[in-house]
Amino acid sequence: MKTEASSPSPPQDIFTLARQWLHECDTCHSDHRFASSQSPLPSRVLDVGNSTDEEIRLYESNEGRGKYAVLSHTWGIAQPLILTFESYPTFSRGIPLGVMDLTFRHAIIVTRRLGIQYLWVDALCIIQDSREDWQRESQRMESIFAMAYCRISSISAGNTQEGFLRPSIQETPLYSSIKNNEDFRRDVEQSLQASRAWILPERTLSTRTIYFTNKGIYWECGSTIRREYSDQINEPQDLISSSRFPMNSTHLFRDCQCQTFEDIFEKYSCLRLTKSTDRPVAISTMERAMARFYRTQSLFGIVLRFFHKSLLWQPFMRLEQPKFQNIPTSSWMSYDHRIYYGIICMDGLEWNEDVQIVSRTETGTANRTMRQYILAGPLVRIHPGCRTERSSHMAWEMKDRNGALVGCIIYDQEAINEDKVGCIVIAEGSAGWKEFARVSWREDFPPGRFSYCLLVEGTRVENVSFETYRRVGIGTIHNGSLLLNERRPTISLS
Ligand SMILES: [Zn+2]
Repeated sequence: MKTEASSPSPPQDIFTLARQWLHECDTCHSDHRFASSQSPLPSRVLDVGNSTDEEIRLYESNEGRGKYAVLSHTWGIAQPLILTFESYPTFSRGIPLGVMDLTFRHAIIVTRRLGIQYLWVDALCIIQDSREDWQRESQRMESIFAMAYCRISSISAGNTQEGFLRPSIQETPLYSSIKNNEDFRRDVEQSLQASRAWILPERTLSTRTIYFTNKGIYWECGSTIRREYSDQINEPQDLISSSRFPMNSTHLFRDCQCQTFEDIFEKYSCLRLTKSTDRPVAISTMERAMARFYRTQSLFGIVLRFFHKSLLWQPFMRLEQPKFQNIPTSSWMSYDHRIYYGIICMDGLEWNEDVQIVSRTETGTANRTMRQYILAGPLVRIHPGCRTERSSHMAWEMKDRNGALVGCIIYDQEAINEDKVGCIVIAEGSAGWKEFARVSWREDFPPGRFSYCLLVEGTRVENVSFETYRRVGIGTIHNGSLLLNERRPTISLS
């Protein structure tokens, strides 16, 4: 593996270079999965024809096989050319290149020059005014990206009109760092386009990607990161580098498998979405892929195999009311804010086996996944003499009636009625709260056992006779301040 700085290569034909990279990956990289040239095609693809053709056409694959590329792009504000019920017959007969958005036209040029017959573009291959078609095709996103011969990423195009093949990328750049990975981080991972939430699953599900940036083209597969103008070959360092995910997580997070999920969920929660209602949708294919790899199930960010730990997410800043009423409040996806998972001290920690994720099948609803899992566990009351005082922007100290520190709380929202707050004990053990909540602490907790708790609040719902509960925060509370010997009714969280 070459890591030393080398003198920049002379400008090359980027398509020759990209074909070389593809060929090397096809023939030499046996240590990661690579795409077949005869993959099952997505339901519809664009047949890009020959380099001289002035039009392309939409092709119904009818479960046929072939070699296809996928385009990752940013839509932008202006409406691009899209496939609709009305445009479908025209698209099937042929779409003149002249009417297409520049980014799409450039993707067609790249596809042709790489010798690939078909191209998949979301805007042109999913019927955009059919909710049914969109739902069906978005469910297939995993295989669409995983089976593609390669992914074309138009990093330098801010929208569909800009295009991404620029004269500047034919020039030798004025600067280049010693390692491709640093350039890659700067030009690809930290680009504005990479802050789109959809990019994360598209990248990790793809076998290999050619990035078109303002600083030249880059290559990423499970074995190598390469760039134009450089002979260096570097290994991908990141968990989400394409093609090896989630296999690469087994050596990155050997001691704590749930960290794969936590790392991805933390990253994803920072990313931008044009429609915030897409939050559980954009990650769902990736969530399924990770769950399958770890032989579990995951829904709305709650991973069944590690569900105790999954529940202990923290908001990065104060949350507003849950945004998505049809997602349980125990899931961070019911909000649209950034979250993180604290470092929990696992030594001597005991998960509470009385807490369970209960599968609840709702029959007769088309929206079957929406409340498939609910959290159920014994409700524990907090000693009535305890009160909380804010100690920092996010953290609250819990004091007993003598003013001694007995816990620390992170409320999800402002204006919590403390008299109504109870908790579900998720785990018991040593406190470890400073590391978990990332707070600096003046005093030490008193000796004894502590509980990692989900704080819940009873809410009366109109026309419902029983009380329901919702999550309002998390905390570590000294067992002496919890009424653990009282009757503890089992509750479920809405
Ligand atoms: Zn490769």
